[in-house]
Amino acid sequence: MKKILVTGGAGFLGSHLCEKLLSQGNEVVCLDNYFTGRKKNITHLLENPFFELVRHDVAFPYFIEVDEIYNLACPASPIHYQYNPIKTIKTSVMGAINMLGLAKRIRAKILQTSTSEVYGDPTIHPQPEEYWGNVNPIGKRSCYDEGKRCAETLFFDYFYQNNVRIKVVRIFNTYGPNMHPEDGRVVSNFIMQALQNKDITIYGEGNQSRSFCYCDDLIRGLISMMNTEDDVIGPINIGNPEEFTIKALAEMIIDITGSSSKIVYLPQVEDDPMQRQPVIEKAKTILNWEPTVNLRDGLVKTIAYFENELKSF
Ligand code: NAD
Ligand code: UDP
Repeated sequence: MKKILVTGGAGFLGSHLCEKLLSQGNEVVCLDNYFTGRKKNITHLLENPFFELVRHDVAFPYFIEVDEIYNLACPASPIHYQYNPIKTIKTSVMGAINMLGLAKRIRAKILQTSTSEVYGDPTIHPQPEEYWGNVNPIGKRSCYDEGKRCAETLFFDYFYQNNVRIKVVRIFNTYGPNMHPEDGRVVSNFIMQALQNKDITIYGEGNQSRSFCYCDDLIRGLISMMNTEDDVIGPINIGNPEEFTIKALAEMIIDITGSSSKIVYLPQVEDDPMQRQPVIEKAKTILNWEPTVNLRDGLVKTIAYFENELKSF
């Protein structure tokens, strides 16, 4: 049995990760400040004697003895990370420093959940890990993008300088149950709108693309990454390379839900990346990982979750 710290464990991905690690026989400490996460995501784990919940902000040091650290603490939805941009960058940068310092002291392995946002509005398509990106350093998304880029730098410097064992994954748009109904990202917005027969809000013309990964596939990728033998692994893209325009996503959600919602076109948001698709050759060869859930099947499961959420909304 390993003892594992999951920061951001009450969030969308963190809650799935805590559940999976417990089911594999580990002891899990979930750390969260509940900025975008919710206790509701993990209440069903509280009866498990091997699960522990800690309210803490990763921007401040935290001390514990564990074997592994998964660092997920950071708001991921643009509306939430832009709400308090200084706090967002502190969370990424100070959070990385605090967790890397902890990993160094207790000789734990540490995994960083970086993001496809490090590629910015990419000028090459699809995006391999070797691409350095096209990020505006002073725009609305910079607090998140540059915070995550700096965190990657810190991870590699702690390896170069202090031999900390690091794993860095770049996650592409992931969706599924446990997303907050008011998360603000595209999949949850469109499903909530469709289920209530409200207008579906496309920002811009809807020709921008994303590649959507179902959460269970993603979590399998994170755990495979942590279990790699080498001291330093990454960055490795984890995502589903099936690419869709935002308009096609809206149409698929309307089709599955049978909604009477109309699509409305709102102004494009600042610095919105026009296309995004991962190259996943590294994940395939190094992690023996590839996604198994296609968008339609993943949406069906996610819609069932949101239908249930709406009953108590
Ligand atoms: P989420 O917003 O649901 O979860 C983030 C969690 O971190 C929340 O529980 C929140 O309360 C917590 N948190 C935020 N600031 C904190 C702080 N200062 N101290 C402690 N806890 C804090 O988002 P998610 O989709 O589950 O994302 C998890 C991680 O994966 C994030 O780091 C995100 O950047 C990364 N990621 C996610 C995606 C995706 O598509 N879901 C894509 C790329 C990267
Ligand atoms: N988007 C949209 N309507 C919404 C929410 C998002 O058209 O209600 C678009 C957004 O402009 C972007 C894409 O959907 O082009 C994905 O947005 P999201 O916030 O989910 O993630 P991002 O990949 O931009 O971080």
